[in-house]
Amino acid sequence: MIKMDSDIFDLIKKANETTLKKHGNEISLERAIFLSWWCDKGDCAFCYMSTQKDKIKDPTKARRNVHNIYAEAEMCKRLNWNIEFLSGGYKSFTTAEIKEIATTIKNITGDSVWLNTGITDELEEYGSEIKGITGAVEVANPELHQKVCPSKSLDKISNMLDVAGDLGFQKAITVILGLGETLDDVDYLIDYIKDHKIDRVIFYSLNSHKETAYANSSQPASLYYAQVVSKIRLTFPDITIICGTWIDNLANIGILILSGANGITKFPLFKMFGTKYGKRVEEEVKWSGRQLKGTFTDKKQLGNPESNVDPELNKFIKRYIKESLKNKY
Ligand code: SF4
Repeated sequence: MIKMDSDIFDLIKKANETTLKKHGNEISLERAIFLSWWCDKGDCAFCYMSTQKDKIKDPTKARRNVHNIYAEAEMCKRLNWNIEFLSGGYKSFTTAEIKEIATTIKNITGDSVWLNTGITDELEEYGSEIKGITGAVEVANPELHQKVCPSKSLDKISNMLDVAGDLGFQKAITVILGLGETLDDVDYLIDYIKDHKIDRVIFYSLNSHKETAYANSSQPASLYYAQVVSKIRLTFPDITIICGTWIDNLANIGILILSGANGITKFPLFKMFGTKYGKRVEEEVKWSGRQLKGTFTDKKQLGNPESNVDPELNKFIKRYIKESLKNKY
């Protein structure tokens, strides 16, 4: 347990020095690209998808149009946003389909992609279009995991990550803070990262959804989040750390960057583009002494309404540009 405020600042200061030394001063904007709005598990206690499962009768109808997915990837390239991973798709897309989508995205962006598409034993089917595999660990406490994510077996996630490593893929985990874990659980996280040789940790803060067990829970405190991230950064100077923060919590960004984040995520990027919120993100990055890779405000970067890749994407590109110029706030 941290004793005094000065200890927190000391921890963050050291984490910041370590990050700058090992990773330089660039901060990425990360965009998770969803493949579908369906989840076959649908029972994680915090998840919006768990409130939707019974409302969707046919999972294939919740699949996104692939041209929309490709247009989103093209927009990410134009704005120099990283694709955090391809997400969702449990039972909505086959492995062969996910592979094809990843290959096309690699052709569009020039970069292979991370996957966060659930537990699978078909990793052998993937090749150079995939950079790494993400295990949705979610809960930083194994006993709590059982209760919060009853259908996502931690053993199976861990096993998949080990197989991914054997096949030469990088490995990531996602962890949501605010689910009932405590600061003491950082030790478990440290062991997990060590045991499974994790290259990248993506932290999110709880976003409590109506109709879930966490509906009335608060997001974790900024300095709690910062302590967890700093401890992980100081224990693992070389790994990549991505931190998610919601639009109602943009003030977290500066402190999370100082604590060790290499990238930030979890924004409605197109909606926030060019708005006071997009500008705020850039200000947060600037005041933490970092350089933002990509833009949240430069309208020129949105480019032409025509796709550079495939005319089939035009109508979706137009829609993304329109949304980015709308200033919804
Ligand atoms: S967290 Fe993932 S596996 Fe769990 S219900 Fe949500 S989408 Fe499904």
